Amino acid sequence: MARMKREEWFDIASDVDWTFKFVDREAVFPEWMSGKGKAPFEAWLSWDEPYKISYPEYVANQREKETAAFAVKSLLRRSKTFDQLDEGWKSVHKAHYGAVALIEFLAILSELRMARFGLAPKWRNVAVFGALDELRHTQLTLAFAHEHIKEDPQYDWAHKAYHTNEWGIVAARALFDGFMMNPNAVDIAIQLPFTFETGFTNMQFVALAADALESGDLNFANMISSIQTDEARHAQQGHPTLEILMKHDPDRAQWLVDKTFWLSARLFAILTGPAMDYYTPLAQRRHSYKEFMQEWIIEQYLRTITSYGLKKPWYWQEFVDGLDTWHHSLHLGVWFWRPTVWWKPQAGVSRAERRWLLSKYPDWEQHFGWIWDQLIENVNAGRIDKTLPETLPWLCNTCQLPIGTAASPSNEKYPIRSYQLEHDGYTYHFCSKPCRQIWWKDRDTQHMKTIVERLLTGEINPPTVEGILGYMGLTPDVMGDDAYKYRWAEEYREPPKQAAE
Ligand code: MN
Ligand code: MN
Repeated sequence: MARMKREEWFDIASDVDWTFKFVDREAVFPEWMSGKGKAPFEAWLSWDEPYKISYPEYVANQREKETAAFAVKSLLRRSKTFDQLDEGWKSVHKAHYGAVALIEFLAILSELRMARFGLAPKWRNVAVFGALDELRHTQLTLAFAHEHIKEDPQYDWAHKAYHTNEWGIVAARALFDGFMMNPNAVDIAIQLPFTFETGFTNMQFVALAADALESGDLNFANMISSIQTDEARHAQQGHPTLEILMKHDPDRAQWLVDKTFWLSARLFAILTGPAMDYYTPLAQRRHSYKEFMQEWIIEQYLRTITSYGLKKPWYWQEFVDGLDTWHHSLHLGVWFWRPTVWWKPQAGVSRAERRWLLSKYPDWEQHFGWIWDQLIENVNAGRIDKTLPETLPWLCNTCQLPIGTAASPSNEKYPIRSYQLEHDGYTYHFCSKPCRQIWWKDRDTQHMKTIVERLLTGEINPPTVEGILGYMGLTPDVMGDDAYKYRWAEEYREPPKQAAE
């Protein structure tokens, strides 16, 4: 018997909706889980994914990808590639494994929410594939990370990072729980597949894969590239959802997209920014973080949102200006507060690296050079204690990142300013106006205390650096330190050679 062509059966097979006789539709798809909002149930039935795949095709594709990814892994296991990796680059690994492995797990839950409460049968099917994808990503990331735990206790700690109160992880949870775990299915589709997976995932999984290859880290490049092929497929859940929402409630769509974009940009400035401009060894850097952001985020993302009739976010200029400052100041902060991270930040400010930074960021010396000069002076005078923290910086009540790291470069030196808000007799602090606006609009669902607030309300004992590190779960064997044991600072003992400058 001849088989039917896929296009002949696909629509019938994926339309698994039926008419409920014993309950009403509101009971099956309650508003707080499904989030149909102003668009009636019927409107969602037009939901259609652009790229179709059947279950047998899905399984065959995934099997092939898994085989390929693990073949490369086992091949490299017998090689010495890991030993030859730069210590700074290994920090990219450790940060990724700690921050990303379990976010892949959270993504399973987001996909499952859409698989159950998505408002169209085709959407629910695609989300089932999405959940299987994210399960694969969790397992892949944990499996690839696992073989490194014998190399260095920081890799071991990375496995538990997401379960701790380490400050970067608290910031990551604020973002990801906020847009992946708590919202209804429609909001998830706009925030996760549309805004996050269409834009930011590309930065960590495509652009960073290029740096990984250049750095000789085939294994990591192999893993994240394999993951990215799934992301590209299930990210398409965002587009049909957005199309319907734009017809019925464009203001809601705009708000969801704008706030997710801003908060993601803040977190990527600490996750991907330092990885590209400081941790990747100079000889292997192809583009700067700003250049990658311009290509992957600014150009492509703006083109996408305007094609749907969305406006540029209200804070656009502030975001663009921030590409010259955010990740530099976050990197500086991470290096200074290095005992509070589970990797070894490479300072990345040798004379040659500073020339590179200046070529990519013409104001870099003006904003950050003088701070590094002070740190270098202290390093070379043997005053390492002066390059280490005695307390914590004030943190933003929305993004949980240090106040002062979202400033726009308006002054000649780096300006630090808190944006405050009084509410119910309490003063909240924010890194920027957009974080304050987002908090105000979402204030009923935002109740995550910053680490500093926990310190001030007596949750962290003793309230000292040791107490804070203990609260974060960081023991001396895993606390971060300078990647090269300060060797990079030695050249500053001599005045710069004329020829080199
Ligand atoms: Mn994933
Ligand atoms: Mn995903």
